[in-house]
Amino acid sequence: MDELTIAVRDLRKRYGGTAAVDGLSFTAEPGKVTGFVGPNGAGKSTTMRMMLGLDAPDGGSALIGGRPYREFDEPLRVVGALLDAEAVHPGRRARAHLLWQARYNGLPARRVDEVLELVGLGGAAGRKRVGGYSLGMRQRLGIAGALLGDPKVLILDEPVNGLDPEGIRWIRGLLRSLAAEGRTVLVSSHLMGELEDTADHVVVIGRGRLLADTDVPSLLAAASDDRVMLRTSRRSEAMTVLAAAGATVCVLGADSLTVSGLSAENVAVELGAHGVPFDGLARHRASLEEAYLDLTREAAEFRASGPAAPEDPAAPASGASGSAAPPPEGPAPHAPVRADETGPRR
Ligand code: ADP
Repeated sequence: MDELTIAVRDLRKRYGGTAAVDGLSFTAEPGKVTGFVGPNGAGKSTTMRMMLGLDAPDGGSALIGGRPYREFDEPLRVVGALLDAEAVHPGRRARAHLLWQARYNGLPARRVDEVLELVGLGGAAGRKRVGGYSLGMRQRLGIAGALLGDPKVLILDEPVNGLDPEGIRWIRGLLRSLAAEGRTVLVSSHLMGELEDTADHVVVIGRGRLLADTDVPSLLAAASDDRVMLRTSRRSEAMTVLAAAGATVCVLGADSLTVSGLSAENVAVELGAHGVPFDGLARHRASLEEAYLDLTREAAEFRASGPAAPEDPAAPASGASGSAAPPPEGPAPHAPVRADETGPRR
């Protein structure tokens, strides 16, 4: 195994009655940004804490280059991590905080100024007390700390949180360039869209279990299977007719729907037979966000203890008629989407 590969094998962790991580296996490889995605509470932070030796697994392993984190003599030079940007004492000045970390790890003081520059906190910003920082600035400081030892492996938990649009553009570029330098970059988010255009590979989890471990095009292809996109000014009538014909219908926008379970031709026939006008019918290409919502809906619903939230644009039709098709089943817990999967997911 490459010395920079992060390998998680059958990892397990329980907190009381909660299986926070439940038999998780995946790898993050050098030269790639691996997106680690799942709804809040899915088990991302717990997994990352176990990679960093901050929590002990109940079973399985989370190794870096085949070794547990605690075995590294100079861990900061191998692995840089951002787990909780709020963890710095508010009374500390950013530069002093990093200097302390550098000294403690035998790193030169000049590296502190380099990383502060790199994250946009050079000059006066770096001399401010952290208590006066916005969440975005604290994230930048946390990223500076992760980069301090010029590590080959980066583990970043929700680094985009709190960044403004310029900050988001910046971090995307940073993650891409770190991976292009051959580093292993594992970055978590509860929002798939944050990692669109950034992640080469995505590992999606829900309720501590693997839902998908694949590259972005394969994830999109699996989610796009067999779906038709429909434009109509009479959306609710179309939903009623198509659900009665056995289709699963999801709202895509004010005048658009996605339909699965019926061919485009049969959608046209059903709508025509019921006099429902439409002006667009095409094979649907799922967005990354839709693919993600599709995968994680079951896990998110479980936590919300109710039906899909109304603002969820991909929520399946349930009120279309008394004969509406049941919502699509979530993926079977042990049937995750893998990169080599080419057939339909369900
Ligand atoms: P994520 O990072 O994906 O939001 P977490 O790893 O933080 O998810 O949490 C996974 C599950 O484990 C959640 O149900 C959470 O409430 C629980 N959990 C995490 N840490 C602890 C802890 N220290 N004590 C008890 N429960 C915890």
